[in-house]
Amino acid sequence: DIVFAEGVDGKPHLLGKGAFGEVYLARWNYTEVAVKVLHVGENIRQQEEFRREAELLRALRHPNVVMYLGSCLVPGQQNMVVMEFAAGGTLSSKLATDGLAGQPRRFGWYGRGRMIAHGVATGLAYLHASHIIHFDIKSSNVLLDRAGLTAKIADVGLSKIARGSEVSQTMRGTESYLAPELYGYGSEKCTNKVDVYSFGVLLAEIITGEPPSKRFGLREPIVPDECPQEAVDLYRRCIDRDPLARPTALMVRRGQLTG
Ligand code: ADP
Ligand code: MG
Ligand code: MG
Repeated sequence: DIVFAEGVDGKPHLLGKGAFGEVYLARWNYTEVAVKVLHVGENIRQQEEFRREAELLRALRHPNVVMYLGSCLVPGQQNMVVMEFAAGGTLSSKLATDGLAGQPRRFGWYGRGRMIAHGVATGLAYLHASHIIHFDIKSSNVLLDRAGLTAKIADVGLSKIARGSEVSQTMRGTESYLAPELYGYGSEKCTNKVDVYSFGVLLAEIITGEPPSKRFGLREPIVPDECPQEAVDLYRRCIDRDPLARPTALMVRRGQLTG
């Protein structure tokens, strides 16, 4: 049985909020787990989307992708997905808290930045090898383990299976991470290079310690001295306007991030 943990206020311990539900800390077989719960009474379409997300996550298994543990997807009942608890929280909150007050919030490339970026690239290469385009890579969808070193890609809610190389997608996701080929009013053709673009934005976020702004690629980020030129070059190549000029996730993983 799943036992929801109590927060300091006696209410269930909330880990995060989404558009159609919440994520809570719970205990399951003596293990801490995270439970994503869909609001009761969400419409059939939302229930279907939630089921799709759960099924997608269930099929995946990789140390850099948040691990599925179980689910309850009974129509009319409380729909939930149980997954491993990432005790380090989101990368976005880590980046926001680990800066010095009043200083640019630099995360440190050699401290943790490089390790985390490498983890995300490895998880992304696994997703792409599994013919999945994530479509929502961003710092609030990257979770960390307790040590804050192992990155886990979460939230496959917008993900799609891409059997061929191209899929159609409408403009969804978060604007500052969105690849230019997704800008449009209808259904745009795209490849898994949209995730590489988002990864590039994420990489710049790790390097500079600052959250990306809209149209990030147009502004020159402030790069700390300790950050090697290769990392800067890599992020620039990832956010190239031309999807074909961007490296694949596997190339990124095998590239400068390990050095
Ligand atoms: P949404 O699709 O609504 O964005 P997410 O799956 O991204 O939902 O989860 C929302 C938030 O809940 C995350 O940004 C994070 O703060 C928290 N969260 C989600 N899953 C976990 C987990 N496995 N461990 C710890 N926190 C989590
Ligand atoms: Mg999310
Ligand atoms: Mg989602």
